[in-house]
Amino acid sequence: MNILVINSGSSSVKYKLFDVKNEKELARGIVERIGLKGSNLLHRSSGKKALKLSRKIPDHEKAIKLALDFLTHKKHGVIKDISEIGAVGHRVVHGGEKFSASTVITPRVIKVIRSYFKLAPLHNPPNLLAIRVAQKLLPGIKHVAVFDTAFHQTIPPGAYLYGLPYSFYEKDKIRKYGFHGTSHKYVALKAAEILRKPLKKLKLITCHLGNGCSITAVKNGKSINTSMGFTPLEGLLMGTRSGDIDPAIIFYLANKKNLSISKIDDLLNKKSGLLGLSAVSGDMRDVYNAVKRGDRRAKLAFDVFIDRIQKYVGSYIVAMNGVDAIVFTAGIGQNHAPTRRAVCGKLSFLGKKVKVLVIPTNEELMIARETHRLLF
Ligand code: ADP
Repeated sequence: MNILVINSGSSSVKYKLFDVKNEKELARGIVERIGLKGSNLLHRSSGKKALKLSRKIPDHEKAIKLALDFLTHKKHGVIKDISEIGAVGHRVVHGGEKFSASTVITPRVIKVIRSYFKLAPLHNPPNLLAIRVAQKLLPGIKHVAVFDTAFHQTIPPGAYLYGLPYSFYEKDKIRKYGFHGTSHKYVALKAAEILRKPLKKLKLITCHLGNGCSITAVKNGKSINTSMGFTPLEGLLMGTRSGDIDPAIIFYLANKKNLSISKIDDLLNKKSGLLGLSAVSGDMRDVYNAVKRGDRRAKLAFDVFIDRIQKYVGSYIVAMNGVDAIVFTAGIGQNHAPTRRAVCGKLSFLGKKVKVLVIPTNEELMIARETHRLLF
């Protein structure tokens, strides 16, 4: 059984084809700069040379059509015909409170995904666009939505509510949702496998440290708290996002510095974090190279990055009344030992051995698994 996984952004589409029986990745690709100058597709079928194609790719329909052409290409492809695709799993960022699990896409599901456009204006619209296009190009098979927020729907109200008047939660659904759920779930399952213990009996802290960063407390297999909130801006310091700040800074910037709301939005999402503090880059490799050269601001950025991670790790150890293992994943978590060393350096107070695991995440494989589990 082959399952195609699609992860669509506003100007890009990533795809992977899996044979789910043995969880083998058959092919992967990315279409970038859709509708922009310099659009291109990079495709790799397993065991074959990667292919790059630069040509005008005006919209998501052309992008997904091209991906299917490559997957079925006589020489470069891995399947003979699109009929060999048994189902499609779609990444959908926001499932709000309606979806605590993956779901087969029906007209009602599409309506709900659309109703969350206001909660995820950058993500849900391109996610839905790809669903529509894929349904058109691959009719007659089931399409499944796998939500970034779903894994965090087990977080209790005591952790997901903000200290705002309750009506803002009731009427506007302003609450913590959390993101990267598919990644946190994948590495938690993998950690249980590695530790040879049932996930239901483990207390884990999973650290997804990529361009976006989030930490989750996974107790007995369930997310009980996570650092991202109503949006992915809350929590840890990230490549270009500020993470937690005193909300009154926003009033100060608006009232005393005359910054517009959209300028502040841009500032906190795109010009802050590692980039804003270091003035070097939002990319940890560049920042840490500067640290090694003795750059003071880069070192400050790194220190703040570590401080925020420790703040969450510490509070989640308390929330779970202990921890069995801390898991690191994503670009920084998987590759950057100085980050892991600095985070774990202060854990000796625990007085017991805590396992530290590095587990490469694979959100697409998790989506393929969920799709298969739901349908077959
Ligand atoms: P995304 O969140 O976009 O999926 P990634 O998971 O690829 O991002 O993570 C990107 C981050 O990982 C960047 O900060 C990058 O510098 C960092 N990173 C990737 N490889 C390394 C490495 N070998 N050493 C240190 N940092 C790395």
